[in-house]
Amino acid sequence: MDQQIVVGVGNIYITEALFMARIHPLTPANALSSSSLSQLVSAIKQILRRAIAQGGTTLKDFLNTQGKPGYFKQSLQVYGRSGQPCQRCQKPLNVLSLCQRTTVYCQVCQVKSE
Ligand SMILES: [Zn+2]
Repeated sequence: MDQQIVVGVGNIYITEALFMARIHPLTPANALSSSSLSQLVSAIKQILRRAIAQGGTTLKDFLNTQGKPGYFKQSLQVYGRSGQPCQRCQKPLNVLSLCQRTTVYCQVCQVKSE
């Protein structure tokens, strides 16, 4: 399996899960409280379950040949939506590049905890 595809798919899930759990993408993992952490874990589970229900059982199926999310795209709340209004607060979503990955987040809903 192509490593790029795996990284890309992982990034979609993480981007969505962080939004769902209201965690800022730059929050260091060790700064997360145990309640934020369990929210993040349950967000990832929900997203994976939904993605599988919508698109099939292999991760590769979620990206089309342009590397964009396929079946799963309908339910993405933040990934690929930078500049568009947040579905929670209607403020424009921000984009952030870290380690060659791009993540999208809401600076109002996702607060960085130190
Ligand atoms: Zn928001």
